[in-house]
Amino acid sequence: MPDMFTDARPHAVVIGSGFGGLAAAVRLGARGYRVTVLEKLDAPGGRAYVYRQDGFTFDAGPTIITAPYLLEELWALCGERMADHVELRQIDPFYDIRFDDGTVFRATGDAQAIRAEVERFEPSDLPGFDRFMRESERIYKVAFHDLADQPFHRIKTLLRSAPDMLRLGGHRTVYAKVSQYFRNEKLLSAFSFHPLLIGGNPFTTTAYYCLVGHLERLHGVHYAMGGTGAIVAGLVRLIEGQGGTMRYGAEVEQITVAGGQATGVRLAGGERIPADIVVSNADVGWTYTKLLSEHKRRRWTDRKMARARYSMSLVVWYFGTSRRYENVYHHTMVLGPRYKGLLQDIFTRKVLSQDFSLYLHRPTANDPSLAPPGCDAFYVLAPVPNLASGTDWAKEAEPYRARIQKRLEETVMPGLGDCLVTSHLLTPQDFRDRLLSLNGAAFSLEPQLFQSAWFRPHNVSEEVKGLYLVGAGTHPGAGVPGVVSSARILDEVVPDPAVFRTAR
Ligand SMILES: Cc1cc2nc3c(=O)[nH]c(=O)nc-3n(C[C@H](O)[C@H](O)[C@H](O)COP(=O)(O)OP(=O)(O)OC[C@H]3O[C@@H](n4cnc5c(N)ncnc54)[C@H](O)[C@@H]3O)c2cc1C
Repeated sequence: MPDMFTDARPHAVVIGSGFGGLAAAVRLGARGYRVTVLEKLDAPGGRAYVYRQDGFTFDAGPTIITAPYLLEELWALCGERMADHVELRQIDPFYDIRFDDGTVFRATGDAQAIRAEVERFEPSDLPGFDRFMRESERIYKVAFHDLADQPFHRIKTLLRSAPDMLRLGGHRTVYAKVSQYFRNEKLLSAFSFHPLLIGGNPFTTTAYYCLVGHLERLHGVHYAMGGTGAIVAGLVRLIEGQGGTMRYGAEVEQITVAGGQATGVRLAGGERIPADIVVSNADVGWTYTKLLSEHKRRRWTDRKMARARYSMSLVVWYFGTSRRYENVYHHTMVLGPRYKGLLQDIFTRKVLSQDFSLYLHRPTANDPSLAPPGCDAFYVLAPVPNLASGTDWAKEAEPYRARIQKRLEETVMPGLGDCLVTSHLLTPQDFRDRLLSLNGAAFSLEPQLFQSAWFRPHNVSEEVKGLYLVGAGTHPGAGVPGVVSSARILDEVVPDPAVFRTAR
């Protein structure tokens, strides 16, 4: 394998090794770039980092893998099959939604079973459910299939797609759309909560996100055996197999620019790394306000980034138990007594509520390898306001965690306190200080209409030539399918490496 001195390939630097950065690196490597990925942390994955503690393995973030074909494509680009390296298992039923009164709605991809489930909750909502699923399919075809991997840096892409997008009601919110089809309060929650999975408020997120229902049904909900970390590790092997370099503990402090063109990066500590192109997978707000702080910006100024609307944050508690909770499903939403009021507290009032809605992940339901024999590995997450709330997490973290534990003990995990054997907590402060996300947002910019598509930071930087952006804050948005699609767009907007060879 040639080294950096003998390798004649044009050099692409990728800042950050989240799913977006790793997917970008694989695509650039496949096109003939020499790729260096610079990651601040000591291991890859970003939000999909892996914590290992006391014999337990905890995926830090994404656990629900949808649209696996987007990942399979990355292996195919390298002439390999993902299935030979990572085992994806379909999880069906997808998840349990447990309401405050103890009733449980089982979301599944089985068309008959889910109709029966809707009927069990509200027979008169069945025709509405059928119509909603048809609408979800229509939205999916335009907003995901046709547009998610379209570069939206040209206004003409927006104008061309605007009639379709208006027709599909993107100016409405998810909740307003779902309300057209369901009356039953519980079904309204069950079919409208999905934006929360990518940091959006169902009461303000554009109705395009109603596509998730069809996406899940069409492609299934999957789990990677060994944890999502197995996909991350597989992508790293692909990059290294292409002759790319992964560098950890390498925090980029500045993207260097000369004559309006990105020339490389400067690391904290002063090392300069020249590059023909730079791809930032760092938080988009951080990229513009910190990594380009020495460059005058026209669109994404500090003022504009300060005024943008950021997604909620999360408290994530990773814990292991010395016994197994066989009654707890792989994915469970443990909803609290309030829906709209709680979301207003999180997104609008930005106060830390006494009640919460939780997502509980028990991967050991299907994959005992993540915990010692007879034990279970879990994480539970609670949506909370981002750091604009002013919450002092150094003070609030432990009491808040204890309240979550109490809630789990009262609902689906009796006796939890007696069998806890390991514990690790992440708060909004960690999203800011560890992952360098403005406002400690867990999902970057909120997915609102005027922060979507053309209005979202483009994948081709508007500020600096030779700079490209991937990841949750760029088009199309957060979630593994979104960020992997953002990397797919690079194939259309990054020049052929031959351009640099002839220019030399
Ligand atoms: C708890 C949680 C659960 C989730 N569950 C799901 C799920 O089930 N399914 C799903 O599809 N999505 C889920 N998501 C969303 C999904 O994980 C994210 O949207 C996605 O992984 C973000 O990828 P990204 O490419 O934006 O990069 P990120 O994961 O944000 O990674 C960016 C990387 O850049 C590095 N970095 C930042 N600044 C610098 C710098 N200056 N120099 C060097 N490196 C830098 C960071 O350290 C980080 O490693 C979840 C998110 C969270 C937080």
